[in-house]
Amino acid sequence: MHTYFVIVRVLFLKSVTAPTIRSRLVLLTILCMVPAFLMAALVLAYNYRQQQDELSRESIAGARTLTRLVDRELALAQVALDVLAASPALKLRDHAAFQRQAQEVLKRGFINNIALIDVSGQQLVNTAIPFGEALPMTGVMDQVRRVLQSGQPEVSGLVTGAALKRQLVSVMVPVISGGNVSGVLSGVILPGHFAKLLDSYDLPPDRITVIFDPADKVVARSHDPELYLGKGIASGLSERLKQVKEGAFELATLEGVQVLSAFSRSPVSGWGVAIGIPLNSLTQDLRHAMAMLLAVMVLLIGLGVAGSWWMGGRIARAVRALQAPARDLGQGERIEVPELGVQEPNEVGQELTRASVLLQSTRSALAENETRLRSIVESAMDAIIAVDARQVILMFNAAAETMFSCPAGQAIGMPLTRFIPKRFHAHNAEVFQRQEQRQRTGDPAGAPGGVTDVTVGLRMNGEEFPAEVSFSSVRQSGHLLHTLIIRDVTSRVRAYKALERSNLDLQQFAYVASHDLKTPLRSIGGFVQLLERNHADKLDEKGLALIHRTTAAVRRLEQLTEDLLSYARIEAEVRQFEPVDMAEVAREVLHLLEATLQAAGATVTVHGLPLVRGDRTQLAQLLMNLVGNGIKYCRDPAPRVEVSAMHKDREWVFSVKDNGIGIDPRHHEKVFEVFKRLHSQSDYPGTGIGLAICRRVVEGHGGRIWIAAHEGPGTTFSFTLPEDLTGHPHET
Ligand code: ADP
Repeated sequence: MHTYFVIVRVLFLKSVTAPTIRSRLVLLTILCMVPAFLMAALVLAYNYRQQQDELSRESIAGARTLTRLVDRELALAQVALDVLAASPALKLRDHAAFQRQAQEVLKRGFINNIALIDVSGQQLVNTAIPFGEALPMTGVMDQVRRVLQSGQPEVSGLVTGAALKRQLVSVMVPVISGGNVSGVLSGVILPGHFAKLLDSYDLPPDRITVIFDPADKVVARSHDPELYLGKGIASGLSERLKQVKEGAFELATLEGVQVLSAFSRSPVSGWGVAIGIPLNSLTQDLRHAMAMLLAVMVLLIGLGVAGSWWMGGRIARAVRALQAPARDLGQGERIEVPELGVQEPNEVGQELTRASVLLQSTRSALAENETRLRSIVESAMDAIIAVDARQVILMFNAAAETMFSCPAGQAIGMPLTRFIPKRFHAHNAEVFQRQEQRQRTGDPAGAPGGVTDVTVGLRMNGEEFPAEVSFSSVRQSGHLLHTLIIRDVTSRVRAYKALERSNLDLQQFAYVASHDLKTPLRSIGGFVQLLERNHADKLDEKGLALIHRTTAAVRRLEQLTEDLLSYARIEAEVRQFEPVDMAEVAREVLHLLEATLQAAGATVTVHGLPLVRGDRTQLAQLLMNLVGNGIKYCRDPAPRVEVSAMHKDREWVFSVKDNGIGIDPRHHEKVFEVFKRLHSQSDYPGTGIGLAICRRVVEGHGGRIWIAAHEGPGTTFSFTLPEDLTGHPHET
């Protein structure tokens, strides 16, 4: 039992969490073999049962045959006695002759002695006793009386003979003389005769066979006859015989041997035979077969278990041999898995080897990439700084070292705020918060940061500088990583400021120049007019022509200074934005242009102009220039200008369309520049500043101006103005 538990523990308990290949194989072997053996045992048991049934059937038949043989013997004895009873010697009462005749019958074998008994029970002749000697009375008077009364033959059971003083079977037939029963002829059969009958039947020696009389007394027995002769048969058999005449069942014999007893009782004589087959010998074959089967089973299971133990060991070794290469592979080493002797682990090994080759090439590609990336980062003109979610610096490139005058070794591990002036810390925190927010809600792979406004950086030496920062974040292994690309824009800011200053100076200059030129120009004009008026008579035609040309030049110069002044004013003056009704502005402009329109015979239509926010004077000037140009640059006798607006994408798009001479698309950009004209003064007078003013006004209001692509004659100027978001109703 102990060993069994040890085996169970080794095979199963040890492997409760993860069974080994070995234990699985062993279990499989046992599971495969045990049912086969159980099946074999079942077949054996079934066969045994069949054999037992067959044997009991055969034994019953044997018992029946033996019973018939007994019946036949008794019948033969009866016949022999019947023949003797009819002997003439009896009729003649010649008892001596009769005894001789009887002696003759005895020679045939199975009757031991014959007695002639008269009606009183006196033996008259007994072949066992020499003729003439005194004979005793019969010992079986009851039987004699029954035969005398019935006149019928009768076979006794086993009785004790009076003459022979031993156990015997007596067969009696009546002797009839003169139609009356005059006596009885009795033949004695000794039990030995029945014993011989048993012997002659040639049953296997272990069979315990018994012949019994109608009173269930043992008449003959194959084993220990002397012990049991005349005794009752086994009580179990007696009981059973009361119920059935034939059958087979298990019982204990008189000597106490367990047997399968097959029995049969003759319905004619009441005699019977029982054949007992010792169960021991009956089951011996089965026990042998079972023992053999068990031995074979143990042997085969042992061999099977040993085989699978060995096989499992080989497989397990092959699989275990993969552990070290897999570990090495995990550590990124180049591995070569050797031949393992089992195909599947071999295939896994080959795959591992292939994976290692792949990993190596990927690693080297990665390393190359990293080197390339590192060299890009290191050689970048911009400072590149990587920080973690707590804004602790993780990476600081060479440009960052120069920009912040801080070596990378010192910067790494520092908080980013170390390089931001204190007053910007709150703003910086906000930027990071926004970025993290975007990261959480947006694309999980990372959120692009974009370029921030120009902010301020702080060098280690405390110097501040303007910087442009672009920001990007990625989530790596669940942690946020931010990368900042910082550009020092000190020189750009400086240049911008210088440009702004010079622009301002220029504007101031243009403003002052045009303003200051106005008075002397007016004086020159006045003087020339005075000259013409007072001295015209003293001048010849040439002189007069010169005066006219001077007057014209002065007028142009005046116009030019006027235009320049308004151009300069647009930037120089502080803009006052207010709600402006463009339809109203258009009405005012048309009113101002009334004379020009009439002179040119022009018509201007205005529709759909909205309310916008802007500088009313500038917007009026814008419309005036565009409408004015539309009428001026027209050869049609009936110039037409159409002013309209439409709402599109949160802004208003205005159009000023004319039926004039049109503008070559090549000049669509150029005409907006200052002093750029496409015609000579003689063709179309002008200063070349009008459209430049228009552009400045539109851009100053946050819009764009362009010449729309055009089909057919004429020009369409388009410009946009932002939608008025102050809530004033728009006129449409
Ligand atoms: P100018 O004072 O010469 O009109 P602008 O700046 O208003 O100056 O115009 C620049 C040039 O653009 C003009 O000289 C003219 O050649 C051309 N131009 C402007 N408006 C129109 C128009 N509606 N049709 C045709 N050409 C135009």
